[in-house]
Amino acid sequence: MTTNAQAPQKTPAPALCEPCAGIQRHWRKAPGHAELVQGTHHREDRGNGQASFTRYRCDRCGAAWEYENNKANQHAGWALLAH
Ligand SMILES: [Zn+2]
Repeated sequence: MTTNAQAPQKTPAPALCEPCAGIQRHWRKAPGHAELVQGTHHREDRGNGQASFTRYRCDRCGAAWEYENNKANQHAGWALLAH
């Protein structure tokens, strides 16, 4: 007699969809993709200039992104907030 012991179900972290995975992060002027839906927007004063932040949510995989636009920072760009 055999018992069909089931392997414990793994719940892998959901993968980013292909266009999200292809976003170049933390790089000024890197493009997003067509399925990002624009959300809230705010500005912050960073001493050497204004930075503006725009939230996006991916329609395909649900990832939450924030895009920072800051002329003084070459590494301001896409950041993944939650997924
Ligand atoms: Zn996505």
